[in-house]
Amino acid sequence: MPGERHEHGSSSGRGTGLYVHLPFCASRCSYCTFVVTTHSRLIEPYIEALEQESSLIDLEAGTRLDTLYFGGGTPSQVPIPLFERLVATLSARYPLASGAEVTAEANPEDLSPHLLERWAAAGINRLSMGIQSFVPAELELLDRRHTAQTAANALEMVLTDGRFQVNADLMLAIPRQTVASLRISVDKILTYRPHHISIYLLEMDKPHRLRTYANRHPEAFPTDEQAAGLYLQVHDWLTSAGYLHYEISNFALPGHMARHNIRYWRSAPVHALGVAAHGLDGPRHWANLDNLHGYLLSLSQGTRPLAWSNHLSPKDELAQKVMLQLRLAEGAPGGLVAAVRQALPTFADKLSEFLELGLAVADETGGVHLTPRGWLLSNELFRELV
Ligand code: SF4
Repeated sequence: MPGERHEHGSSSGRGTGLYVHLPFCASRCSYCTFVVTTHSRLIEPYIEALEQESSLIDLEAGTRLDTLYFGGGTPSQVPIPLFERLVATLSARYPLASGAEVTAEANPEDLSPHLLERWAAAGINRLSMGIQSFVPAELELLDRRHTAQTAANALEMVLTDGRFQVNADLMLAIPRQTVASLRISVDKILTYRPHHISIYLLEMDKPHRLRTYANRHPEAFPTDEQAAGLYLQVHDWLTSAGYLHYEISNFALPGHMARHNIRYWRSAPVHALGVAAHGLDGPRHWANLDNLHGYLLSLSQGTRPLAWSNHLSPKDELAQKVMLQLRLAEGAPGGLVAAVRQALPTFADKLSEFLELGLAVADETGGVHLTPRGWLLSNELFRELV
């Protein structure tokens, strides 16, 4: 609840994850629904606020960070010395486990050999890059600041550097995107073979500039069926190229799955710092204020900037767990499926329907996983869990 002071998040000696939100961007992309600002003068006070927030959260003695993730916004928009200071402060406060995965999101236009050098020295070992497309007209519609050539140069630079695991984000269902234009982006990505590729469908349920554009040009947007076709097509292309489709939106070369993101899908503890950041630890879930000024004000008064904190009921916790596990190709284990079937009969009926239609597959232990077509329709199944 707001004002709660300390977070004793983890039981003794276990690992945890930490997400840190850096909400700064040079401009706002046309599809963006994240909590971001273009006011760079707020960067320094915000870093100070993050440091202050971290001083209000004590993890139990012996807890180490298995994963640390700087998301945004664009962490690569934070001046390097300030970013180094933040990483050093957090690493001193929350010891990193040996071999911890430390990720920072970056936009292609911000990457340089100098930035890679300094970030590697600061301990970053994984980069997640917002590529989105290699088709100039699509990048323009998305109001991205980089060109296809900038994205290609950035991927080349970071993969040749060799010190980082690399994720590239691609977007599906961009206005006027076709199978042929998507093929251009996927072929280009595959010439570089990043360790990990995330595929996002353009979301139209929240307000952003492309939604206004859709009111004037509905014909430019793929229908749900066309978007589903693009998704299944990417699945075929990337799996044929040796990537594992290990989560609804994520592909990885063997051994390179995103460890931080997997924590959420397996309901493992993740602590969180920054505006709008969400944390979870067992049945406890919480979120920070999603208003930047409110966040800064709260910390200037020495108060944790919590917006809400919930303790899930056993039934809600089960529902949440099965929903997240079914996002993964490994699916939900038999014990969990049996418990949810018993607690939520309407979900059990829907799951049986999915199994009959071949949208889900059961193993001999009663565990269940969804097929790619099942993932596409998973909202119908997950609706029965809320
Ligand atoms: S770079 Fe990412 S966070 Fe920033 S405006 Fe674009 S979509 Fe939003």
